This record gives sequence, structure tokens and C-alpha cells, in this order.
Amino acid sequence: MNLRRLLARTISETVAGVSWMRPPAEGLRVLMYHAIGTPALGDTLGLFSLSPERFRQQMALLSGWQQGRVIEFDPVALSGAGCRVAITFDDGYLDNLEVAAPILSELRLPFTVFVTAEFVRNGKAGFLSPDAMRALAALPGAQIGAHGARHVALTQCDEATLHNELTSSRYYLEDVLGSEVRTLAYPYGAADRRVRDAARAAGYRLGACSLAGINAPDRDPLLLTRTEIVSFDNERVFAQKLHGDWDWYRWRTQDPACL
Ligand SMILES: [Zn+2]
Repeated sequence: MNLRRLLARTISETVAGVSWMRPPAEGLRVLMYHAIGTPALGDTLGLFSLSPERFRQQMALLSGWQQGRVIEFDPVALSGAGCRVAITFDDGYLDNLEVAAPILSELRLPFTVFVTAEFVRNGKAGFLSPDAMRALAALPGAQIGAHGARHVALTQCDEATLHNELTSSRYYLEDVLGSEVRTLAYPYGAADRRVRDAARAAGYRLGACSLAGINAPDRDPLLLTRTEIVSFDNERVFAQKLHGDWDWYRWRTQDPACL
């Protein structure tokens, strides 16, 4: 673990130490995972691939929750009482089908995988193929969302490229799946109001960025915050993140809704 992560953990432990008596923060908490059990792309620090054992532990904790608290990532998810959680994965790793999905299916937990369209189209090693993506989408509780066409930062794209990234990826996924794709996660979490407006114009109803935190019902549905889960997050840290003890992390980055 690097120094910055260690400092973050120390602060969060302190927050947890003084906040354990308060109830968990209310709203929609969207968990962000990447790979489970295989290496994640460009992950030099080893943060973005959880061991299957650790992932199972975390999902077992969620499955012990009251029914209705772990919900699908869809437009109605924002309205509701109490603390709800949606489980999401970025990039479209093949292990999401082969390792994560069996655990999620066994525990009857819904989840969404945001797929990079060109990785599928080009048969990129380690990622979902068209057949694998169809198999994943056919599982009960599974949903496919978009993650751009080429996995580029959309905030850096000119208008034409931005439009193409958002629409070509959606159309490709819909062609392969034979069903609508109306949700997306922005690659690298790179979003601002221009990207949000383009996503809305391209037909998306829900968009997830990487800003930390929980979503109140009035949060912009196309700029939802998420809670990143990394490989070092043991059961204790996972529980802290669910409780909101790591939400201070959001102050590291500017809210895309203000950009
Ligand atoms: Zn990504």
C-alpha cells in the first residue's frame, strides 16, 4: 500500500472511530469494482483486481442485508428510503462472467457491468467476447451498461468524437445484446456538464462517475457518485465504506456537476 492510501486509511479509521454510533448515510451507494481474480489493465499498484475470496466475503455481507437494499442500477434506484446499494463493474473483464457472476447469482445479488465496446468488438484478451457478454446479460439480475467505445477520457474529446464515443458504443452493445442499453460509466470517471449533456442527448438515463460518496434523491442521475472498492479493502474497510466513513474522499476531486 502506498503512502497516500495509508494516510487515507488512517483518516477513515478516525472517522469510523467517531461515527460508529450514527446510522449509515442514506441514499443510493453505487459500488465500483473492476476485475475479480485476474489482473486489471494498467494496474501497476494492484488496486483494481480483488481476490475471489475477498469479493465473496463482501458479497456475503451484502446478501445478509434486509431484502430490497441491494438493488439494480436503474433510474428508479435514486428514489427510495434508507441506504441502498448497487453493485457495478467497469471495463468488461471476462472474469466478471467467470468469477464474479457465479458468486452474485448464488447470493441472488443484482449487478451491472459497464463494457468497453471496442474491447468486445476486437476480441481483446481478458475481456468479454460478444458471446460472453450475451451469456452475462442472460443471467438473472445482470445488466450491461456502456463504458465508451475506446476507453478514452470523454472530457478530452471534441464534440464529434464525444458524440461518436457515446452513440457508437451504445448501438454496438444493443446490436450484440438485442436489448436496450441506457446506462453508462464514464471511462476514468472523466465527466463534466458538457459530457453529461452529450450522454443525455445520446439516450442514456443513468451515468456513473468516480467521485466518491452516496447519492441523495436529488443527485443528477447522469452524474452519480460511486464508492470504489480496491484489493486492500478487508471486511472492516468494506463495512466502513458502506457506512460512509470514506465519503470524505470526495473532497480530493471536484464534483463533475460543477465543471
Ligand atoms: Zn474503465
